[in-house]
Amino acid sequence: MFDSLSDRLSGVFDRLRGRGALNEADVRAAMREVRIALLEADVSLPVVREFVDKATERAVGQQVLKSVTPGQQVVKIVNDALVEMLGAEASDLDLDVSPPAVVMMVGLQGSGKTTTTAKIAKRLAGKDRKKVMMASLDVARPAAQEQLAVLGRQADVATLPIVAGQQPVDIARRALQAAKLQGFDVLMLDTAGRLHVDQALMEEMKAVADVATPQEILLVVDALTGQDAVNVAKNFSDQVPLTGVVLTRLDGDARGGAALSMRAVTGKPIKFAGVGEALDKIEAFHPERIAGRILG
Ligand code: GDP
Repeated sequence: MFDSLSDRLSGVFDRLRGRGALNEADVRAAMREVRIALLEADVSLPVVREFVDKATERAVGQQVLKSVTPGQQVVKIVNDALVEMLGAEASDLDLDVSPPAVVMMVGLQGSGKTTTTAKIAKRLAGKDRKKVMMASLDVARPAAQEQLAVLGRQADVATLPIVAGQQPVDIARRALQAAKLQGFDVLMLDTAGRLHVDQALMEEMKAVADVATPQEILLVVDALTGQDAVNVAKNFSDQVPLTGVVLTRLDGDARGGAALSMRAVTGKPIKFAGVGEALDKIEAFHPERIAGRILG
């Protein structure tokens, strides 16, 4: 039977009774379990190492509390360190500029970028009562611009009229101008994805960012792609000044490891989690839920 990490950690300390300080050998034994659990959850190896070192340092020498068992105490230390590493602080969008605030969405094809653009637009228009316009700069994938227009109608959010043959930088310029003239608060730019990270894609994104001067650049990553998601995040964050990450398909991710790696690799907060296909299936990111999933 599969034991959760919490159970396994408690098991390591079974022979100890709540007395004295947590001893180093026992903590190291417990951290071996943590290391295995994190690797199983698809957290990348350097991130696992960093995490285990930090948690070990915290646990060794701590006085065992009378109210809990040593196992429970270590579970709590690990949980708190996970939450901290996932980004305990609130991380909403920062749209506090003279309008329109531009939010640029980047990511690989199939990551859920277009859907997430519409989800965030809908949320801003509804909950936050912003006047939002969306524009698709994806001229590479056939029908990508139409897809956003359809989602716009579903979400009751305006989209920039499509002009056939126009290139991404020109669309960005036109969108910005339209948003300014028509008094929109927020302009969301859905950029083109690719199957893999390539230089042409990066150059295109940089050119668009130069023209649009986005307030937020959000990287959309599919949580189910595990280690690949980490490489993608590293590539994007090396080349574009990201302000945050959106993890999609957290409804299907039983392990949650991508979240931990994402934060460590980009140094940027995870701002939203996609939790389904429908346009209202997006939530603020909750570090403690992911920590709970990893601990089991
Ligand atoms: P893009 O190529 O990155 O623009 O990806 P799309 O937005 O077209 O999304 C690809 C597929 O993933 C679509 O079928 C979406 O409905 C689906 N999708 C997007 N986000 C989520 C999510 O959070 N959960 C689930 N289950 N499906 C999602």
